[in-house]
Amino acid sequence: MTRIALVTGAARGIGLATTKLFLEEGCHVVMVDNDVEELERAAAPLQNVTPMPYDVSDPEAVATLAAEVEGPISVLVNNAGLADFGPMAETSFERWRAVMATNLDGPFLVTQAFLPQLRATKGAVVNIASISALRASTLRVAYGTSKAGVAHLTEQQAVELGEYGVRVNCVCPGPVRTKLAMAVHTQDIIDAYHDAIPLNRYGQEREIAEAIVWLCSDKASYITGQRLAVDGGFEATGIGLP
Ligand code: NAD
Repeated sequence: MTRIALVTGAARGIGLATTKLFLEEGCHVVMVDNDVEELERAAAPLQNVTPMPYDVSDPEAVATLAAEVEGPISVLVNNAGLADFGPMAETSFERWRAVMATNLDGPFLVTQAFLPQLRATKGAVVNIASISALRASTLRVAYGTSKAGVAHLTEQQAVELGEYGVRVNCVCPGPVRTKLAMAVHTQDIIDAYHDAIPLNRYGQEREIAEAIVWLCSDKASYITGQRLAVDGGFEATGIGLP
């Protein structure tokens, strides 16, 4: 039977690369994104996809999404995310809430909405956090906190859903040149990452997607509740985030 994967934030970046890799594996992919135009553009050349223009931070939209998707979904990738760089002193509550709503409420709402399907299929979930989840920095009060929440949510979900045969893991990407990252990475940050990362480069979208797809596959059948840093060795250096 064809596996049906649901990928949020699928219109570009890591989510689109993950969608394409799942398609290569023979899956059907439900592509969820709230950027309607970008989603249409991304989905147009692809076969075996169902584009769904929904906002993962909106409980009503997520309920509608779950009602519309026939499924059964056996793979869920909670990838949609917003970046925000700034110290606490300069972070408005509106911005804080927006980051939490997409980055943390989103994976909670979407996973909860698809629980019946995930349990029925003994499915696999991957939540996308960040190396920002693993250490604090002066610029990431909202983003880093939201991603640390995603990493812990992963453990909670894995512990709760193990008895149903549902696995939940977390991928923590290092820097990748997507729209999200390049909106906040100054040249100083880019240079500092190049120096600090043992592989001396940014990651590629496809390299993150490979880890996600592997964690969702039967090859990872005994792995749950884990955080996998896909970061060119950055975390191992112990160096702070630039
Ligand atoms: P991106 O901006 O290229 O893609 C994010 C996608 O999510 C966009 O298509 C956007 O429209 C969608 N999205 C945003 N909010 C949404 C919402 N509320 N509902 C539905 N869709 C929404 O960014 P990316 O770099 O590919 O990011 C993907 C994930 O990877 C994010 O969770 C991000 O935090 C994480 N990440 C990225 C990097 C990096 O350096 N690029 C590093 C670590 C973690």
